[in-house]
Amino acid sequence: QAKRSGRGRVVVYTREMEEAAKRVTRIEQALRRAVSAGEVEPHFQPIVDLKTRRTVGFETLARWTDRDLGPVSPVVFIPIAEERGIIGQMSQLVLRKATEAARDWPEDLFLSFNLSPSQLVDQNTGLHILAILERTGFDPRRLEIEITETGLMSDPASAEKIVQDLRRCGIRVSLDDFGTGQSSLGRLREFHFDKLKIDRTFVASILDDRPAEHIIRAILAMCEGLGMDVVAEGIEEEAQAERLVQFGCAGGQGFLFGRPANADATLGYLRDSFRGAQRARAV
Ligand code: C2E
Ligand code: MG
Ligand code: MG
Ligand code: MG
Repeated sequence: QAKRSGRGRVVVYTREMEEAAKRVTRIEQALRRAVSAGEVEPHFQPIVDLKTRRTVGFETLARWTDRDLGPVSPVVFIPIAEERGIIGQMSQLVLRKATEAARDWPEDLFLSFNLSPSQLVDQNTGLHILAILERTGFDPRRLEIEITETGLMSDPASAEKIVQDLRRCGIRVSLDDFGTGQSSLGRLREFHFDKLKIDRTFVASILDDRPAEHIIRAILAMCEGLGMDVVAEGIEEEAQAERLVQFGCAGGQGFLFGRPANADATLGYLRDSFRGAQRARAV
């Protein structure tokens, strides 16, 4: 097989591409059905104040388990949803369910929600979000939208208009996965972000990699100067959290504090920590 001619290899390659294309189409069809049936669910991962370890909000992360395909990762189905024009509908379903769930949480907790690049070129995105908040009675000031540098690239003017509309309504906007995209620091001058999320690749190397440490410290200094809040993503170890506190990083997110969990489990977690806090006060 390995000794096949160049032509032979081209045939094999084409067949692989065909298989991949078939799989994408299969996922697309299953996802369309799931979205219509309301089967994509929001999960929630805590975001904490690194010093006190108190939960200050949750990030919404879409989860989908298909009857035949089993659980499909958002890393797989979000890009397909984008490419095949399902992202808007999927996103509205997940935001509706997420805000319905978050209504039962303590009022000082925020909810964050990811927007895909294609949603930042669609001028209806803002209207759709606001319509959902109105319908579910969720305060826009408790909502945060996460966007990536890539999301700002294809049509910066359009993205800027959507971002400004959302901010006028009290929705906060954060820059997700900072440091991984084709970033330009100039964007930070043009756009006004309320928060910046340091990508987990930097956090992963913070303990044993000098460049990562310097980059994180520089990002923190920049955020302070620009008046932006900061969250470090992907914190898995206590030592990483401690180092970040030393550097003055206020917010953190990662498996160390909690994995994404469904609405029921999240509510249970909040009730337990509320009872824990009451007990602590009673002592
Ligand atoms: P993201 O917005 O950067 O979300 C953080 C991702 O990091 C999540 O992966 C989360 O489970 C994972 N994570 C959190 N803490 C840790 C940690 O300590 N270690 C490691 N290794 N990973 C951690 P997930 O849920 O697989 O989502 C992947 C991406 O899919 C998200 O990255 C986001 O870009 C996208 N996504 C998820 N849900 C939605 C959605 O509803 N809409 C849109 N547009 N995109 C979504
Ligand atoms: Mg995010
Ligand atoms: Mg992120
Ligand atoms: Mg990420």
